[in-house]
Amino acid sequence: MEANGKANGNGHDLAEFAGIEAFTLPRIDPKLNLLNGSKGVQQQDRLPAIIAMLLKELGLEIQSEHFRDTPKRVARFYREFTRGYGAKPAEILKTFPSSNQELIVVSDVEFFSLCPHHLLIYGGRVHLGYVPGGRIVGVSKIPRLIQELAARAVVQEDLVADIADAFMSVVKPLGCAVTAVGKHDCVAARGVRCPEASMTTVALRGIFSEDENYVQRFNRAIGQGHECVR
Ligand SMILES: [Zn+2]
Repeated sequence: MEANGKANGNGHDLAEFAGIEAFTLPRIDPKLNLLNGSKGVQQQDRLPAIIAMLLKELGLEIQSEHFRDTPKRVARFYREFTRGYGAKPAEILKTFPSSNQELIVVSDVEFFSLCPHHLLIYGGRVHLGYVPGGRIVGVSKIPRLIQELAARAVVQEDLVADIADAFMSVVKPLGCAVTAVGKHDCVAARGVRCPEASMTTVALRGIFSEDENYVQRFNRAIGQGHECVR
């Protein structure tokens, strides 16, 4: 690996994959103009052509009518599930002044994310609690932050930490707690094949990492959330 060129930020070198040197990106079809929605990107999207190569390499009948739009469709899927890299928490989290210093919990925010190890979907629910330190957040903005930050190839352990850190840095509460319960397709449909297995991850910041009482109140509030009737 050392002799074969520069490693990327994760310490890996693409040349370690057999045949990668022979890999050349496909020519761009001038009719393809699939911009991924992120501002300022004015280059043609090579993703559909790359996905077409993948299908071909797998021996799939890409001439079939079923596959006609598959490269574009799959490209849109991957763009959608990686849009969170452009998320701007400071723009998402609109705050208002408040003297409230009690626990506030937003629970059962459904999310979908991509497992970075298999590029398969995992998803479930996120619960976020915080104790304001002078400002509160518009309630719809919290699900928005969670769903945007989930739209990345990120492990669930880091997802809760990233949500908590973003929330802390923008809202500056006395503390916040984030927990996610997720089911992973890479666990359910392949490998050990445990469709019912779920993973819970937690990130505690500020007062929640210092005072166990706040964690208990947060956990009780999450439980009560399921009984909400409207
Ligand atoms: Zn996985």
